[in-house]
Amino acid sequence: MAKPNLHVVLFPFPAHGHISPHLNLAAHLHQYHSNLTVTLVSTPHNIAAIRSSLPPTSRLELHSLPFCPADHGLRTDSESTEDLPRDQFPIFFMAMESLCGAFDRFIAEASKQSTICIISDMFLGWTLDVAHKHNAFHSSLLGMSAFGGAVFLSLVMNLPHVDSESDPFTLPEYPEVVIHHSQLDVVILLATKTDPPMLFVQKQLSTLYKTDALLINTTEYLDPVGIGMLKKTLKLPVIPIGPLVGSSYSQILPSENESKIIDWLDIHPVASVLYISFGSQNSIQKDQMLELALGLEASKRPFIWVIRPPLGFNAKVEFKDEWLPDGFEKRMKEQNRGFFVHRWAPQIAILSHKATGAFLSHCGWNSVLESLNSGVPIIGWPLEGDQPFNATILVKLGLCVEVARGNMETSEVGKEKVADAVEMVMGDNEKGRDMREKTKEISTMLKGAWKDESCSSPKGLAEFLKLIETVMDN
Ligand code: UDP
Repeated sequence: MAKPNLHVVLFPFPAHGHISPHLNLAAHLHQYHSNLTVTLVSTPHNIAAIRSSLPPTSRLELHSLPFCPADHGLRTDSESTEDLPRDQFPIFFMAMESLCGAFDRFIAEASKQSTICIISDMFLGWTLDVAHKHNAFHSSLLGMSAFGGAVFLSLVMNLPHVDSESDPFTLPEYPEVVIHHSQLDVVILLATKTDPPMLFVQKQLSTLYKTDALLINTTEYLDPVGIGMLKKTLKLPVIPIGPLVGSSYSQILPSENESKIIDWLDIHPVASVLYISFGSQNSIQKDQMLELALGLEASKRPFIWVIRPPLGFNAKVEFKDEWLPDGFEKRMKEQNRGFFVHRWAPQIAILSHKATGAFLSHCGWNSVLESLNSGVPIIGWPLEGDQPFNATILVKLGLCVEVARGNMETSEVGKEKVADAVEMVMGDNEKGRDMREKTKEISTMLKGAWKDESCSSPKGLAEFLKLIETVMDN
């Protein structure tokens, strides 16, 4: 018999794009199921940042798991991927398993009082053993699109992929999906069957086949093919509960210059500004940055560009003039055409401002959902992982045009292509009008998904809680 009270324990991978949907889920759990205890666990820095960002009314409990980055050869402040050098990502992924002992102790204690449901990140598959040990319900929250997640899972489970004879190729589980090498990042493209980090990731992802349920940050009308693909391969309850965006819990990293940015947007006409960002943890090559800048200049449209150091530069380094064409920043500022944000922008506030007309994005799934939720069409430049496949579904739905792919030295980007794409999406032409119209329709549907308990995502959440009851009663 299940213990009377349910305690939901959320455990995201420590990266902004993973923590944010878990926080949004916590907010919805409280909104629709006020009797639940919900705790989010993470490393000390992340817990401190989340604690300081939560509204005073929040009932989310936070639990800190001790983590010593230096034990793994990481800089002492490495508790998230934002400032982490790219070559340290694999170490960081593997270091997460060192949280197992403290997590086990937390679950052991909590399970004395309540029935436990662990909702963990797919990169923390080892939490399944902890759940089994303490007779807890275990589920994973997929923060990618279902289509991107299905393809990413298959790519990682079926290494290697470098074979010049097979470009494009198809996936064993999904012969209908055609993959081009240009859609693969360097890690997936060059991974062998014996790379320790890839073996580690494979092991984590393999728990997706054994967990009790999969929650996905998506919706049926946006991502039906991918949901079907995951149901077919995983053979377990797959429950879409998206979009997990924009709740009062999720503004973890405040941007210092938010009011200046909003003032700048306020003086621009409706849907006239292009917003450019490659997410919380990735960058492009310096040469690509120069070409992008020239394309933006040629487009003649105002823009806000979040500039992170290009690849090869320390992620914490201050801005350097050499990253942009000669005099570019000065020219753009003088013409009041360019607003440059160094490092971190208030993305949701920018996307929801009426002056923002398009988003040149790396197609990280949170960025995609935030953009579509605000009715802003996307100019896609996917870089890695699931992003190219997120872009695929958007292009098929007429919500996005792809302008470039990848950030390898060989990945091509042309200034003319950038300027043409901006004109197509933002200009007065049939294709652009159609794309903007379709994006508005999707925005209405996404906003409707969480409106009240009769809507698709609260229903998905109720189905999930019912499933926990059934499984734990047996
Ligand atoms: N983000 C932000 N400001 C920035 C960069 C990113 O607020 O300057 C947020 C963005 O709103 C999104 C998340 O960070 O919620 C990025 O997640 P996404 O899945 O788009 O990409 P990732 O960073 O995981 O590659």
